[in-house]
Amino acid sequence: MSAQIIDGKKVAKGIRGDLKEEVAKLKTDGIAPHLAVILVGDDPASKTYVSMKEKTANKIGMESTVKRLPSDVSEEELLQLIKELNENDSVHGILVQLPLPHHINENKVINSIDPDKDVDSFHPINVGNLVAGKKKFTPCTPAGIMKLLESINCEINGKNAVIVGRSNIVGKPISLLLLEQNATVSICHSRTKDLSAMTKEADILIVAVGKPEFVTGKMIKPGAVVIDVGVNRIEGELIGDVEFDSAKEAASHITPVPGGVGPMTITMLLNNTIEAAKAWKNKQ
Ligand code: NDP
Repeated sequence: MSAQIIDGKKVAKGIRGDLKEEVAKLKTDGIAPHLAVILVGDDPASKTYVSMKEKTANKIGMESTVKRLPSDVSEEELLQLIKELNENDSVHGILVQLPLPHHINENKVINSIDPDKDVDSFHPINVGNLVAGKKKFTPCTPAGIMKLLESINCEINGKNAVIVGRSNIVGKPISLLLLEQNATVSICHSRTKDLSAMTKEADILIVAVGKPEFVTGKMIKPGAVVIDVGVNRIEGELIGDVEFDSAKEAASHITPVPGGVGPMTITMLLNNTIEAAKAWKNKQ
């Protein structure tokens, strides 16, 4: 039997409807949630992501500012801009679109963002809070994945969750979120010995590798829930890390690419910005 498709667009739309109401409510209380995005250079993918973030923020009534800097901007100038945004009380969330040009130290930039405004949740303080189970913000893509699992009432407690990929932005944080909800979590990577043996044990399989159609149906336990995080641009088309046609014959539920995890990431970014605005208000 073919898997049920997890419709990320639909789930994201539902959440955005709720966020729009929250923004309107905050505005009546005198607070306009405001996201500032910094884009350095003119990488086409980064430009697309930033304009999508801006558009989606505006759609839910959120203030958004995009600061565009040339690719040869100095690290000092970038840090100065972040300092100004940190000190600007009308800005609640700050995001620096990655990757940055090689002459800029990415860690230094991330560390300079006020953790209370770090809506991507990449600052070491926020990473530490996530590890300690005391998170302020949940990193956007992993938070979106958890919402997708919730949308199909996926049981997590006691299940085997296998994550393929151990990046700081997807693999590691999603493993922590699943662990927090009592899954038995395995994290696989490029040095994993028998990947297929691992993935076949997964009741919940999360794939974030960055290699088109890397996981095939043969590697999937029948009835597993499969979340494909991968976004690979091949000849203008977006392809996931999971071979969709074979995987959907094995899985019980599966996310498509595009239209699965992607729409959730921006939605959770806006959610974090609203959380930041609320926290700021409570501090006043
Ligand atoms: P990274 O490149 O940072 O990490 C990839 C991971 O895959 C690494 O841990 C790497 O292992 C592992 N890997 C590589 N080759 C193999 C292999 N042969 N077997 C097992 N593991 C392997 O990627 P990201 O996590 O940043 O992104 C992953 C994918 O998700 C990309 O396609 C990206 O575009 C997409 N993405 C999508 C988002 C969305 O919103 N939809 C958001 C973020 C990412 P090792 O550590 O050993 O090198």
